Order: sequence, then C-alpha cells, then structure tokens
Amino acid sequence: MEQLTTIEVRVPSGLSRVLVGESLDRIGRHVPGGRYVLVTDANVDRLYGPVLGGAARIVLEPGEATKSLAAVEHIYGRLLDLGADRSTFIVAAGGGVVCDVAGFAASTYLRGLPFGFVPTTLVAQVDAGIGGKNGVDFRGYKNLIGVFRQPLFVLCDPGVVRTLPARETVNGLAEMMKAAAVGSPALFEELERAPEKALGLDPGFIARAVHEALRVKAAVVEADEREAGPRRVLNFGHTLGHALEAAAGLAHGEAVGAGMVFAAGLSVREGFLAPAERDRIVRLAGRLGLPTAAVAPAQSVIDAVRKDKKRSGDAIHFVFLEAIGRPLVKEMPLAWLESAIHDLR
Ligand code: NAD
Repeated sequence: MEQLTTIEVRVPSGLSRVLVGESLDRIGRHVPGGRYVLVTDANVDRLYGPVLGGAARIVLEPGEATKSLAAVEHIYGRLLDLGADRSTFIVAAGGGVVCDVAGFAASTYLRGLPFGFVPTTLVAQVDAGIGGKNGVDFRGYKNLIGVFRQPLFVLCDPGVVRTLPARETVNGLAEMMKAAAVGSPALFEELERAPEKALGLDPGFIARAVHEALRVKAAVVEADEREAGPRRVLNFGHTLGHALEAAAGLAHGEAVGAGMVFAAGLSVREGFLAPAERDRIVRLAGRLGLPTAAVAPAQSVIDAVRKDKKRSGDAIHFVFLEAIGRPLVKEMPLAWLESAIHDLR
C-alpha cells in the first residue's frame, strides 16, 4: 500500500478529511462506530463488493441517468425500510454519479445523515469527491438540484482506478491536468515528465498526483465553498468544454481537453500568456490522449454556451491563464466568446 496522506478541508459547512493512499478494506475504521449502509453502483459492486462491506447495501444502476430524483427516492425508500435514524452512516462508493446522488440523499434524509465517500473513478478522486457539492440532474439540466455538505471522510485508494475503462481514465486525467494548470506547476511538470505513468495508472504516481490535485481543489474550496468568486478557477477549460460535451457528444474529459487548449489560445490572444506556455498545454493534452481541437459546428457550440447556467446575462466569467499555475478570471461579454468560437473554425 502507498503511503497514506491526509488533506483537511475546512469550510463553513463542516470539516472533511481526505485520505489518499488508504485501502478500501479499511473503510470501517473511518466510520464512527464502524457500521454503515453502503451505496454503490452495479459495476463497482461486481468488482469490489466483498471488500467494500456494509451492514446493508443499496446498489444503483451505473450511469449518468442515475443522477435523478428517482434514484434519490429509491435510496430514501431503502433507508426507511432499513429503519435508518440520524445516527445511520452512509458510505458512497463509486464514481461521481454515486457520490453526487448518495451524498444528496444522505444530506437530505432526516435533514442530514453523516456520510463518507469512497471515490472509485479518477474523476471522483481528483474532483467529485471533495468540495461538498452533492446533487442530481433535473429535466436535462445537470446538477440543477443539490446542496453543499461535506462528507466526513473521502477515502482514495489509488489501486482501485486500475480497473477503469480507458475512456473513464481520460476523463480523470483531464481533471488532473486542469488542477495542475490552475494551481500546481509541480504536478504539471510531473505529468509532462511521465505521462505514461499517468496513462498506465501507476499506483505510486496516481497517489501523488491525486494528492496534489486535491490539494489544489481543497485550497480553492476552503477559500470559497459556495463558488462566489475564487472557486471559479476550477472552471478552467470548462466553458467551452461543457458546450462541446453537449454539442459534439464528446466525453467530459475529451471536451475539457479541447476547452483547456482553447482557453490557453485565448489567453495568448489577449496578451496574458506567453505562447510557449500555451504550447505546453497543447503538448500535454495531446500526450494524455486528450483532443486538442474542437470538432463541432460553431453555431451549435454557441447555442450550448448560451445555455450554460454559469452565464450571467450577456457576460461569462472566463478563466484565462497568466502562467501554468496562475489563473485569471475575467468577466467577458458573451459576444466576445461567440466570436472567438467562430474564429476557432
Ligand atoms: P461515473 O460515476 O458515471 O462512473 C463512470 C463509470 O465507471 C460507471 O460505469 C461506473 O460504474 C464505472 N466505475 C466506477 N468505478 C470503477 C472502477 N474502479 N473500475 C471500473 N469501473 C468503475 O462517472 P464519473 O466520471 O466518476 O463521474 C461523473 C459525474 O460526476 C458527473 O455526473 C459529474 O457531474 C459529477 N461530478 C461532480 C463533481 C462535484 O463536485 N460534485 C465534480 C466533478 C464531477
């Protein structure tokens, strides 16, 4: 087992301890009293069911469609049948979908049960597991319904991601690269030095990289739990990324890869970033298997940008870079972004 490192996230809604390098079979040690109801999905249950344990188990269908009020209702029903009370501890073990939906159900059942996360995808380890945003999609809008509430612990076992399908690995590496680009030149350099270790999910490398990416996210979340300002830097690459995901049907990580390259290009065009730094972004995205160009009709990307719920009227907070590790958020007119998307073609 890799060395265990701990990151504490202290925010107004609570304290969360992130354990990087802890192994799955030690979940019970972090649960007060040791007993818990496990919420997971069928894939994770098949692969890791016996080691995840749990006094009772709620198994959800894998996939984004599970981030729904129907799944929340299903969890409420099972908790009722199980006679859950305020002391019942919920452990959500799975990707971002399981963490989001189980975190929301736990946060709202009986006005809040204590819960912990065991993220099993790279996306969930570097991103979804921490930050306290728990929620579900509604009528086609992502994350429309939700709460801010911190898990008591987040247990990241670096070995568990080795069973991920390749596409899920790419999604996670995109978020890892984003964390490096906005907050950790050291992680960026490490990814540049050994992209094959990242792609090969080398457990030692993953433990270090997950720790560093989480350190970046934890610092930002601590400064701004509710995304009033500083937390916006985590949106680097995501404005175009979300639009491409919707317009071109790209996987989230692929879309974020193209989005980071786009944002770096605009950072150069606006005079914030040196061209050589943009070239590093383009090169690393390519070496991590991320697309470096957007492949969608400009108009459909623009239509998707207009639907972005982070848009404020005719303006958008766009995340530029001044250097690797130094983001710059500026409110830009939507028309500016639309013309940049046209120029991209
Ligand atoms: P996911 O939860 O859908 O998991 C992807 C797939 O991998 C699923 O089929 C799952 O069953 C499978 N899987 C999980 N662990 C596995 C393992 N160890 N081995 C093999 N297969 C495994 O997807 P995701 O990318 O983890 O999460 C995406 C979701 O997370 C989105 O809904 C997104 O909105 C959300 N998210 C939330 C936050 C947040 O701050 N709350 C941040 C980022 C993303």
